Amino acid sequence: MSTRAPGLRVTGLETEFGVLCAPVGPPEETKADLPDVERAAALIFRHRPVGYRSTNLFLPNGGRLYLDIGAHPEYATAECVRVRDLVAQDQAGRAILADMARRAAARLAQEGIAARFHLLANNTDSAGHTYGCHESYSVPRSLLDVTDDATRASSETTMAVLTSFLATRPALVGSGRPLAGGQTESKQGGRGAGEDAAWGLSPRAPHLQALTSADTTGQRALVNTRDEPHADASRLRRLHVTCADTTMAEPTTGLRSAVTLLLLDALEAGWDFTDLTLVDPLATLSALGESPWGDVPATTVQGRSLSAVDIQEAFLERLTFYLDDAGVPDFLRGAEHLLTDLAPRVISALRHHDAGGIDTEIDWAIKRRLMRAQRERHPRLSGQALETLRSRVDLAYHDLNAETGLVPRLVAQGAMANLCDPEEIERARQTPPATRAALRGAFVAACLEVGADFSVSWESLRLDSPPTAPVDLLDPLQTTHEAAESLTGRVLGLRPEEMHRIDLVGRGGLGAPG
Ligand code: ATP
Ligand code: MG
Ligand code: MG
Repeated sequence: MSTRAPGLRVTGLETEFGVLCAPVGPPEETKADLPDVERAAALIFRHRPVGYRSTNLFLPNGGRLYLDIGAHPEYATAECVRVRDLVAQDQAGRAILADMARRAAARLAQEGIAARFHLLANNTDSAGHTYGCHESYSVPRSLLDVTDDATRASSETTMAVLTSFLATRPALVGSGRPLAGGQTESKQGGRGAGEDAAWGLSPRAPHLQALTSADTTGQRALVNTRDEPHADASRLRRLHVTCADTTMAEPTTGLRSAVTLLLLDALEAGWDFTDLTLVDPLATLSALGESPWGDVPATTVQGRSLSAVDIQEAFLERLTFYLDDAGVPDFLRGAEHLLTDLAPRVISALRHHDAGGIDTEIDWAIKRRLMRAQRERHPRLSGQALETLRSRVDLAYHDLNAETGLVPRLVAQGAMANLCDPEEIERARQTPPATRAALRGAFVAACLEVGADFSVSWESLRLDSPPTAPVDLLDPLQTTHEAAESLTGRVLGLRPEEMHRIDLVGRGGLGAPG
């Protein structure tokens, strides 16, 4: 094993949200006028932050808000280095969208329609559609290169390790799912009786059909291999992971990224995980989707009959050795406990079939506790009525609406833990993380301030009227860039000697003019 220091990398999170518009008060009074899902999403985007003409926009915090055709608003965080920043940016995006939905509802109320908008950070709707939560990780091209036979073979080995890790990861950080069929006895593998029979670890699992795919919508895969690095393509690739459950508890979201980032570091440093490669990761993942405790078969290519929990535990053990060896990486600053303390407790909970020690931090455990509480509150409910109740709890758990969503109440009661301070999230609504997102964010904020037309992508900045040549930002880690900063200065009408007033990298955005 080599202990070569791995490269710094950026990571981002994309979340697609479900939308619902429901009447407030007696349904018969408002139902006829209620917007359908597509109109509801369009109405929410009509209340986007001021200064934008389209529904595809980059924000001063460096993130992106997007409404594609259809009705799933999406927020993509800016590129972050630290897990804590990533979680703050993710939460900030949710808060921005929730505000837009609140303003949209207020507008409808002025028209005499009493309605509530629900943005759902879940993965499936009642019609069986699925929508995603994507993670992006920058990696050196050499890690996943496929240009010749030698690089192809080593990349395939790396990808086999990654997909085996990802297929078993919901045991650790799944969002949990009530299963149809209720609290009946079941003999299916991994499903026990009573409460256990009605519970699975991952709602996204049943929708994944391939390990890798270049086509995200046609064939849903664990990893999307479309080669779109959003950076210098000669040096970098983007590992685009498309199988996660959308999670609500910040420690769950943080742990998911932390453990994945650490695995990438260890792989880059040459650590070997090939003995944990599975024969059929998709079969294991599919079983995990219906398993309450993750003890589903996971056979390795070397012929060992393990379980999904065994595989995750083995990854974690080796990563702990790696951490001891390499030292705590910058990306774990302020979040190290997720790996050293929370992750082992999740494994222990799965082993002992007792989630009591993690049920304020891990989504599947928190949601499961809520289901049980409802069950105890309504002991006589059964059949369809019980299933409806469970679906309602599930929806409310993922609902971003401050009045109907459960998260604010759970946090206030101490029943859901945070990772970030509320101030960190508030700041992340305006302030980009310390990556090239800081250059983008300052440029966007400047353009909005003076009303300039601009076009921005993940790797370029441009003024539209009069048009300027795009400034390319090919290194996602760079926080200074003369051409980008001078373009921002030009927007603000600053002279070169005043450029220091553009205050980048999370130190409060743009300096006040004057
Ligand atoms: P799709 O929405 O079809 O999946 P996409 O993933 O390319 O497409 P976006 O929704 O714009 O597009 O999201 C891009 C994500 O990649 C963001 O979360 C962003 O933070 C992240 N990202 C940007 N640049 C890089 C990079 N160089 N390496 C890794 N991740 C990056
Ligand atoms: Mg996207
Ligand atoms: Mg994506």
